[in-house]
Amino acid sequence: MTLSHGRHYLAIPGPSVIPDSVLSAMHRPAPNIYEGELISLTGRILSDLKRVAGTTGDVAIYIANGHGAWEAAAANVIAPGDEVLVLATGPFALGWAEIVRRLGGRPRIVDFGRQGPIDAERVKDILARDRDRAIRAVMMVHVDTATSIRSEPARVRAAIDAAGHPALLLVDGIASVGIEALHMDAEGIDVLVGASQKGLMTPPGLGLVWFGERAEEKRSNGPAPSAYWDWRPRTRPEAYYQHFCGTAPTHHLFALAEALRLLLEEQGLEAAWARHAALARAVWAAVDCWDEAGAIAFNVPDAAARAHGVTALRMAPPFATRLREWLADNVGVTLGIGLGMAAPDDPAWHGFFRIGHMGHVNAHMVLGVLGAIEAALAALGIDRGEGAVAAAAKVIAEAVEAAPTS
Ligand SMILES: *Cc1c(COP(=O)(O)O)cnc(C)c1O
Repeated sequence: MTLSHGRHYLAIPGPSVIPDSVLSAMHRPAPNIYEGELISLTGRILSDLKRVAGTTGDVAIYIANGHGAWEAAAANVIAPGDEVLVLATGPFALGWAEIVRRLGGRPRIVDFGRQGPIDAERVKDILARDRDRAIRAVMMVHVDTATSIRSEPARVRAAIDAAGHPALLLVDGIASVGIEALHMDAEGIDVLVGASQKGLMTPPGLGLVWFGERAEEKRSNGPAPSAYWDWRPRTRPEAYYQHFCGTAPTHHLFALAEALRLLLEEQGLEAAWARHAALARAVWAAVDCWDEAGAIAFNVPDAAARAHGVTALRMAPPFATRLREWLADNVGVTLGIGLGMAAPDDPAWHGFFRIGHMGHVNAHMVLGVLGAIEAALAALGIDRGEGAVAAAAKVIAEAVEAAPTS
């Protein structure tokens, strides 16, 4: 028999679970794009987005996924021939670097492996040796969704400053905005990239680029980006049509406005960060037990460097794939595939998977996924130790106890 009928849980790291009120906000006739509600709504979205990122700078919305937002960010500050230092902790930094290369930039990749964060000391040394200041920007991914490594932008900023280097700091926050503590201005981030479908709980389709004064100065002194990618016109409320270089993403805007309301007003941003942190600790507590029994291991051994919205895990191949298939077929949970750790035609590929715990997710959903994994391990005859789900439940109970109002 199968026990999968009922509400399915797509527990992958994006697209994340969409709240019903966000879906409902889209269920309406097409609005006028030239005047009326949509225009004031967009003004509110822009100011809410700045709050979410912790910046007094500007933000531009593109009709694009994260890859489009990567290109938008790069097109505004990287000119052909510019050298860019790319700090890689997984495949996402490499993907962004490839976009820079195709735009004519010269990415220089520093690889920190796939199991631990960026080493800021090494970044400082590289920048200190760049005596003619050829490096125009440093690019990093806050949370690499494939490896589930979190690196701290503030440490990279401190390294840039300690080297006395003028490079801009560009950060991919696609898997951290709305999920992890992030303060763009306080952490010295010049350009931050986001997308709608992860912590922002909105369908994929909106790419976001936040930028501060130093980045804007660089844009205005450099060769102009294409009219489409230029972020400047997109920030001017008095020229509404220019926000989107054409028809606005009408229904996505209604959705995003509702998601931002949930995030900023209903729960509160810091409470949302704390919720993700507590849910991540619950996942880790269960994995610690399975790890001890030799069933499942963390990709990132150091808990301090683990993301709060996704956990990348390892199992002896082919059991990661078997586990995912058992869960999808029998209990209505879909986990994430291993990404960028091995080629799909390599048997090692079947030794990686990920649990997404980002966005509109609460304790019972995470406990459900963990209980479902426990059942899968039992069904597959894998020694799973004892008390994994109980350990997760204890973390949840203690988190609620410690912060009863959030
Ligand atoms: C999801 C993701 C991307 C890519 O976003 P798409 O919308 O799939 O193009 C880039 N960077 C990170 C960190 C991500 O999590």
